[in-house]
Amino acid sequence: MPHRPVLPHFSAGRKPGAAEAASAAPAPGPSAVVVGGGISGLIAARDMARRGMAVTLLEAASAVGGCVGTHTVAGLSLDSGAESFATRSSAVSDLIEELGLSGGVVNPNRDGAWLQLSGDDVAASAQRMPQTGMLGIPADPRAPEIVRAIGRAGAARAALDRILPVGSLARKESVSLGEVVRARMGDAVLRRLVAPVVGGVYSSDPDVLDVDSVAPGLRAALTKHGSLAAAVGAMRAAAPAGSAVAGLTGGMGMLTRALEEDLAALGVKIDTGVAVESVERSGNGWIVTAAGRTLSADALVMATDGPTAVELLAGTVPELAAARPGPGPGVALVTLVVDQPDLDAHPRGTGVLVAEDVEAVDAKALTHATAKWQWLADSTGPGTHVLRLSYGRALSAATAVQAQPSPVERDDEDLFAQALADASALLQIPLGVDDVVGWDVVRWVGALPSAAVGHRDRVAAVRAAVDAVPGLEVVGAWLAGTGLAAVTADTRARIAGLADQLDQL
Ligand SMILES: Cc1cc2nc3c(=O)[nH]c(=O)nc-3n(C[C@H](O)[C@H](O)[C@H](O)COP(=O)(O)OP(=O)(O)OC[C@H]3O[C@@H](n4cnc5c(N)ncnc54)[C@H](O)[C@@H]3O)c2cc1C
Repeated sequence: MPHRPVLPHFSAGRKPGAAEAASAAPAPGPSAVVVGGGISGLIAARDMARRGMAVTLLEAASAVGGCVGTHTVAGLSLDSGAESFATRSSAVSDLIEELGLSGGVVNPNRDGAWLQLSGDDVAASAQRMPQTGMLGIPADPRAPEIVRAIGRAGAARAALDRILPVGSLARKESVSLGEVVRARMGDAVLRRLVAPVVGGVYSSDPDVLDVDSVAPGLRAALTKHGSLAAAVGAMRAAAPAGSAVAGLTGGMGMLTRALEEDLAALGVKIDTGVAVESVERSGNGWIVTAAGRTLSADALVMATDGPTAVELLAGTVPELAAARPGPGPGVALVTLVVDQPDLDAHPRGTGVLVAEDVEAVDAKALTHATAKWQWLADSTGPGTHVLRLSYGRALSAATAVQAQPSPVERDDEDLFAQALADASALLQIPLGVDDVVGWDVVRWVGALPSAAVGHRDRVAAVRAAVDAVPGLEVVGAWLAGTGLAAVTADTRARIAGLADQLDQL
């Protein structure tokens, strides 16, 4: 039977000793502290509160939401991070339905994105993004639009995939996405199709990413079907029909807002601007310290980025140090709101993914947000457009040596000028400072954890160490994988386990 909820207890001043804190904690009943108010922390807090627990959520920033945030540019409320969710599972749409937001779910414009490849003539080197099976890997390397992207020689090499033995790729303990694609289909597919897609989604290089983390089941399908093309074709056929992503009218920030409102209705106490400094075990519970205050509770959910979680838990779960993740790539997003009626024709569909070797452009991707989302076009009206350009990706060891300084270190004016030049080149429409009615730069540092080779084993080690500590759960993209679908499904499963455990106490 669930315990009667008891509010976690915040005390000002001196940090109590373990015995003192235990006696200060209110009488029996599960209470929980959630550290971090990104989407994983908000979902964790909500699911625990719905199980009758008394929950306090502490968020370091001035607002909750983490990567699912909003900013105002030229009077428009826009997503500053995530702007869509994957529909390969119902995880996010189920949550959206529970929150009463289903009516706002929208599909992106079917026009799709373009691919910018290298070449002396930028316009001639752009083409519609070819239909690919998964993460830019073609299900049919002989399809005309694929041959156009990778060239005849590239297509001939890719066709070897059908006859090459699967060999050690299936047996190796861990292997990168880049290694799998290069071995099966060659460098042209890797650099001209897979790298631009992966750069857009993960801000990372395929040679960095663990194939089993970013494409679960792909290696098994490769073994089963005997070729990579057949594997991605089969996986694509098994995926739900229709658009692979969806959004919300008003932006994904609506999800954060709805969660925040629901938490308030459920009695969850949210403290923003509170960076947790330490957590420690005390008797059967936890003591959390932030800004010179302490909070005691029965359960602790760490919903921060990976390095912060490892650091805060160093005293309680020292085993985590071995699985401490790298900081992840720094990403700068430049949003331009421009008055330029020529953009009404959506010259590059919903945006452009840029291959790494395109020298004329620094951005790794451009999203033409008013072309992608009709609700946004309706709110700006004709002639006014929202463009979002992103800079920065984690590089493989081979490319890191030639790397420029991180884009997050470039100043705003520099990034603004770069974005105007890049947007003009990619869209083939000159855009000047006078066309701009508003702009903003948002920097994300370490917000896109890199699922580097060996990631699955590191996650398993973290989970084993955390599971051994009663009343503790650790959630978030650094363990679940990048993206709202992965984070939502994983957080809900982990919190159900924690709540069951507490019910049995
Ligand atoms: C630019 C960008 C675009 C993206 N686009 C998409 C997209 O379109 N679709 C998609 O599905 N996914 C997208 N993602 C990925 C997705 O947004 C993330 O995977 C997901 O939101 C991560 O949620 P989280 O709760 O794990 O982490 P976060 O959102 O990073 O939240 C962690 C929170 O912990 C807080 N915190 C850290 N330390 C402390 C501390 N000591 N005390 C208290 N609080 C602390 C942080 O301030 C932060 O709010 C995007 C990500 C970025 C950065």
